[in-house]
Amino acid sequence: MLEQEIETKEKEILVDRQGEVLTGASPHKLSKSFYIESYGCAMNFSDSEIVASILNKEGYGPTKEMDQADLVLINTCSIREKAEDTIRQRLTVFNKAKRENKKLVIGVLGCMAERLKTKLMEEEKLVDLVVGPDAYRELPGLVNAALTGQKGINVLLSREETYDDITPLRLESNGVLAYISIMRGCDNMCSFCVVPFTRGRERSRNAFTIVAEAQDVFDRGYKEVTLLGQNVDSYRWENPETGAAVSFAELLVMVAEVNPKLRVRFSTSHPKDITDEVLYAIRDHHNICNYIHLPAQSGNSRILKLMNRTYDRPWYEAKINRIYELIPDCTISSDIITGFCTETEEEHQDTIDLIKWSKFILSYMFYYSERPGTMAARKYEDDIPYETKKRRLAEIVDVQREESRQSNLKDIGRTYEVLVEGNSKKSDLQFKGKTGRFKMVIFDKIPGVLPGDYVMVKIESCNSATLFGHITKKID
Ligand code: SF4
Repeated sequence: MLEQEIETKEKEILVDRQGEVLTGASPHKLSKSFYIESYGCAMNFSDSEIVASILNKEGYGPTKEMDQADLVLINTCSIREKAEDTIRQRLTVFNKAKRENKKLVIGVLGCMAERLKTKLMEEEKLVDLVVGPDAYRELPGLVNAALTGQKGINVLLSREETYDDITPLRLESNGVLAYISIMRGCDNMCSFCVVPFTRGRERSRNAFTIVAEAQDVFDRGYKEVTLLGQNVDSYRWENPETGAAVSFAELLVMVAEVNPKLRVRFSTSHPKDITDEVLYAIRDHHNICNYIHLPAQSGNSRILKLMNRTYDRPWYEAKINRIYELIPDCTISSDIITGFCTETEEEHQDTIDLIKWSKFILSYMFYYSERPGTMAARKYEDDIPYETKKRRLAEIVDVQREESRQSNLKDIGRTYEVLVEGNSKKSDLQFKGKTGRFKMVIFDKIPGVLPGDYVMVKIESCNSATLFGHITKKID
């Protein structure tokens, strides 16, 4: 299957069918290939890279062509009904491929696999494997059994599993940005959320393996890592040898000290757990980006209580004030759910007001989608009409877009340090990259500047999503 192997002094670098270098690929011969589609949050994309590494050790190489694959996998999301509908549509395409190639093995991974378990196999006759987020080590064995016609399922959730000994195989990577998962699961029980049921209890990964992975990707030329977790602020790893505990703030500093040229970001924070120590770490380390993703979900305290978010509006405002107090030029983004059970027009207006008051640079906004098995589904009626949900969503999207535009307008005339990520989508004559404050910038290429370089860019114009400028100098 594998096209070519190039000897280097340290490791063999393997290329797949398209000639892409497989970062972290295992040295032995790849005789089979797998095709994987990933959906949902960054955690899922990071999991797909762990799956790729596990399969790679078994002789599987990734391919981007489904018709070339021996194994087709889909890493699923269950956060909203629409997400699961998308998966079902993709499965019809996979089923067609299986009718043309009977030996093809189809596997469903991730949160939908965990939520539906055997039901998924009953519904989807052509699915051979259903594997939950904590059972990926079992995948090779399940695939081998499926090749003999035996369907397989493993949806056991674990209290220990963090895959911390597995080096992810970077799949959709631009060679500049890498995700590093630092913990798994979530102990919060937000009433609308399926994650605690599909990803299990919280467990933090060995801090030293996280630092080693950050060092490894930096040595491979990556310039930015994003530390991932459902609620990174509750990260806490106890060293079994010394009993010493590592907090999230300490972990941030450990990763930042890998190299001052390695940018560090993290996602996702929880307003109830983010500490001053985390804010000091951001304030005192240039390479820990001054940007925080802090989901509010709603701007109304009664709704926040129904959502079981464990904080109210004044608490959230106090956190925002504290962030701007300690890091005045910090930027903040959020998650918002509109149209939650019994939400009134006034309470909807509270959310609009919170977006304006907090000056979010962007938000991920959705209307409430009832998820089976959640506390909200069990206790509250999903009583907001669909048309009202859609209208409220459109209103908060408009308000957020204007807040984003106002924030970008303030950047015109200023010069920022930007990490070059690659070509802009619209033109190969331009690069795209982000400021530390998580703002996307588009600027003309100049000789001697490549992806992975840091440059200073003077901002000349903007729209609500993007800044436009020109390079004033390259930072060596
Ligand atoms: S913090 Fe709440 S919304 Fe986020 S993953 Fe955990 S339960 Fe879900």
